[in-house]
Amino acid sequence: MLYKQEHREFMNSLSKFIKQEITPFVDEWEDAGIFPAKELFQKMGAQGFLGVCKPEEYGGMGLDYSFSLAMAETLGEIPCGGVPMAIGVQTDMATPALARFGSDYVKENYLRPAISGDYVACIGVSEPSAGSDVAAIKSNARSDGDDYVINGQKMWITNGTQADFMCMLVNTSDGPIHSSKSLIIVPMDTPGITVAKKLDKLGMRSSDTAQLYFEDVRVPKRNIIGEEGLGFTYQMLQFQEERLWAAGNALRSSIRLLMIQFHIPARDRFLGNRFLIIR
Ligand SMILES: Cc1cc2nc3c(=O)[nH]c(=O)nc-3n(C[C@H](O)[C@H](O)[C@H](O)COP(=O)(O)OP(=O)(O)OC[C@H]3O[C@@H](n4cnc5c(N)ncnc54)[C@H](O)[C@@H]3O)c2cc1C
Repeated sequence: MLYKQEHREFMNSLSKFIKQEITPFVDEWEDAGIFPAKELFQKMGAQGFLGVCKPEEYGGMGLDYSFSLAMAETLGEIPCGGVPMAIGVQTDMATPALARFGSDYVKENYLRPAISGDYVACIGVSEPSAGSDVAAIKSNARSDGDDYVINGQKMWITNGTQADFMCMLVNTSDGPIHSSKSLIIVPMDTPGITVAKKLDKLGMRSSDTAQLYFEDVRVPKRNIIGEEGLGFTYQMLQFQEERLWAAGNALRSSIRLLMIQFHIPARDRFLGNRFLIIR
């Protein structure tokens, strides 16, 4: 990625934020198996970091996607994988579809507080029997008057124990598997949602990953993102941001791992990162 002066200034201010507000606490959060998402996100939101490419109308900065990549790359300076991933879920995995296809209601009530950091977001796609094969999800939302009634379960959900809402992929009909799904915003304090367990992991420990059950969870139909039946397509588009974000984030974090492997002292690693990236 060839960055301009504006990108570099943005990356420098994020880098400064990381050094002050994240890096000193990483060991503690990795040991605890969780980090205080809302507290950190509110600080990030106050500086505009959670809405880099989101519309200005809803509190975002309205910049182009190159700035999201600059952010993902800079987050690679955090000396762990969990916190950057959780931030990436908030900015580039659970919210792009809201910005792209959400109604004014959805944007005002869920996108705006996700950009300010007042709401923690999570993305609910994976299930025990549906990982890579997204079309195989079994969770469903039955129409009941003005509501959907959701039943099912989601697995490996990042921010799952702390989230205020989930952008959830569910089946809304029995039709063909690619046109039977919808993306629905589910407030996580709705009755019927159970955090079955916070999963213990070998890596990315500071990010909480949860298994969640949904039993007769009633959500108003106005919480749908875009049109019913287009959820699979919306999610495939949302995955594009997720994948690009992950690639950008890996640039600095993987180089840091290489440096650790080659025993380059910590004090030289940051300079080394820059050197390797420039080369
Ligand atoms: C730390 C962590 C956080 C996560 N956070 C979230 C989250 O926030 N939200 C969410 O929805 N999900 C989340 N996930 C789930 C993640 O998206 C899935 O793990 C991923 O989709 C892969 O699914 P799976 O684990 O079921 O593996 P599988 O789909 O069973 O795949 C296992 C292996 O088989 C290979 N494979 C699969 N299908 C084929 C095929 N047809 N041909 C050849 N090879 C194949 C895969 O490449 C892989 O190597 C998270 C996972 C982890 C580990």
